[in-house]
Amino acid sequence: MGLLKVQGLFKAFGAIRAVDAVSFEVRPGEIYGLLGPNGAGKTTTISIISGLLKPDAGEVFVAGHRFWSDPQKAKRIMGVVPQELAIYDELTGRENLEFWGRMAGLSSSDAKSRAAELLEALTLTDRAKDAVKTYSGGMKRRINLGCALLHRPQLLLLDEPTVGIDPQARMNILEFIRNLRASGTAILYTTHYLEEAETLCQHIGIIDHGRLLAEGTLSELQERLGGDRVFVLEADFKDASPDAWDGFHQRFRVIQKTERQLAVAAIGTRDPSECLRDLLGLPVRVENVTLKRPSLNDVFLQLTGRELRE
Ligand code: ATP
Repeated sequence: MGLLKVQGLFKAFGAIRAVDAVSFEVRPGEIYGLLGPNGAGKTTTISIISGLLKPDAGEVFVAGHRFWSDPQKAKRIMGVVPQELAIYDELTGRENLEFWGRMAGLSSSDAKSRAAELLEALTLTDRAKDAVKTYSGGMKRRINLGCALLHRPQLLLLDEPTVGIDPQARMNILEFIRNLRASGTAILYTTHYLEEAETLCQHIGIIDHGRLLAEGTLSELQERLGGDRVFVLEADFKDASPDAWDGFHQRFRVIQKTERQLAVAAIGTRDPSECLRDLLGLPVRVENVTLKRPSLNDVFLQLTGRELRE
């Protein structure tokens, strides 16, 4: 049984289905990435799981128990890092951490020692006495993250924790998250960065318009494309229609077609050279062919018909 299990979640705002029949599970010790573009429904999902929003339908189980059967118990197990900074600008980094420690039910001395520990782990000890308003964007993100960790949650919900910060600060946060996982914390991580999902997460769910379109490990998702190779053809495809090519859809799965490019994956286990001959025999003047391993971007493209660029 996963540490977190969501089953058939549904939430509408008027006519918008923000979360539409979403089910997934986060197992102990893993980072589960919920990957999707802006407006896909990631924040709404996190808000439901953390008890800020009630779903119209569906259930959230934390450590095997329905969230709403004992919300306090569920909240003790999890930590939540919202996308919007939830820190006090006028307080110092240390004071912010200690405040959230007290809010989480720690004694004053426990809150102090845990805050010191977190400042060290977040490499913020030398700025601990400064007001948060003097921090850089990356440092604020780190304190925001720390505020959810005072009570050592087994499950951490992270809503796009690296949005709007520079690459160095991002690496720093990703490293911290990897260390959290190594010390046994399970993490639900929402992002619209393909690369973060690819390099950080053991399981990935692809979400778009409120629906979970696919999920699995990175290689399971790549296998959905029907092979370990993607062929990218360059040619003039303006007036070309793969639908009209004899038996093409039985042999290849189209990942993306633009006026200049056609990306396809071979269906079944076929020799690449045979596929190449096949593709060069198409009724278009092919100018270039590239062969590559499918990326998460290719999976996303095939599922949604759109790019998810960083
Ligand atoms: P982002 O990365 O931009 O935060 P997201 O994947 O987190 O995107 P959500 O914030 O969950 O997406 O939004 C999902 C959909 O629900 C969007 O169409 C959004 O406009 C809508 N939505 C979210 N909250 C509300 C609300 N309180 N009232 C009305 N519509 C809402």
